[in-house]
Amino acid sequence: STISCNDIEKLHVLGHGNGGTVYKVRHKRNSQIYALKVVHGDSDPLVRRQIYREIEILRRTDSPNIVKCHGVYEKPSGEIAITMEYMDLGTLDSLLQKYGTFNETRLSNVARQVLNGLGYLHAQKIIHRDIKPSNLLVNKAMEVKIADFGVSKIMHRTLDSCNSYVGTCAYMSPERFDPDTYGGTYNGFAADIWSLGLILLELYLGHFPFLPPGQRPDWATLMCAICFGDPPSLPEGASEEFRDFIQCCLQKESGKRWTAAQLLSHPFVCNAPRSDLVDL
Ligand code: ATP
Ligand code: MG
Repeated sequence: STISCNDIEKLHVLGHGNGGTVYKVRHKRNSQIYALKVVHGDSDPLVRRQIYREIEILRRTDSPNIVKCHGVYEKPSGEIAITMEYMDLGTLDSLLQKYGTFNETRLSNVARQVLNGLGYLHAQKIIHRDIKPSNLLVNKAMEVKIADFGVSKIMHRTLDSCNSYVGTCAYMSPERFDPDTYGGTYNGFAADIWSLGLILLELYLGHFPFLPPGQRPDWATLMCAICFGDPPSLPEGASEEFRDFIQCCLQKESGKRWTAAQLLSHPFVCNAPRSDLVDL
């Protein structure tokens, strides 16, 4: 059933995104906790377009690895809000800050769940286009869910262009900068897989793979590293399965990159023991 805005009370701010604010809220009658993403009436038309895009996609999706939407409303003031399931451990980004790097078992569990979500989206012809640690949410049940569909794209025809510059450039794949060289059999879905490969590497290493620890990314350095450098890879200590998995995700040519469905049957994902993401 959908939740109306009169039913909930704001508890506190969970975070600010580009254009919106996310609150932790409580249902007044049953005390259930939710996350509420709010975009103000006077906000930028681009921001408003993004929230409409997000609403459209959340309405179309139903997967254990995609954040669930429980209601949408628009006030006369123009304010638009989405009630979502509350993910009580926050983002993969904040887990890395708080608990440090992830071991292979945890990463394999993260990989399986994100691939399950991506496989679902891609089968529905949806490209997320902004897969990054702060858009992957975790809860105490150790579920990992994909959130934030503001810049996603629904492919209506196979020839749709999906290469406009959106999202965070750090996690952007080579073919999004240089489709002529790396786009081969170009399909935008492979860009989400590149981002996932980088994220897993980042969670293992503790720093963004293309840059030395502590260095802040600048656009030009990053673009050069992504397009002209070798793709980053795992150090010696990592298992053969994990190293191979990362290589399958980080193929520079998008056509050589494995799909979500293929990666779900990679030994790194399907042979790994299921485990808790964090020991609480
Ligand atoms: P960007 O605008 O670059 O994507 P962001 O991902 O941080 O930045 P939002 O997606 O708007 O922006 O979310 C802001 C923050 O709110 C997130 O980083 C996260 O900490 C928190 N958040 C969002 N959705 C939820 C949720 N369903 N449950 C718990 N926390 C959430
Ligand atoms: Mg976000």
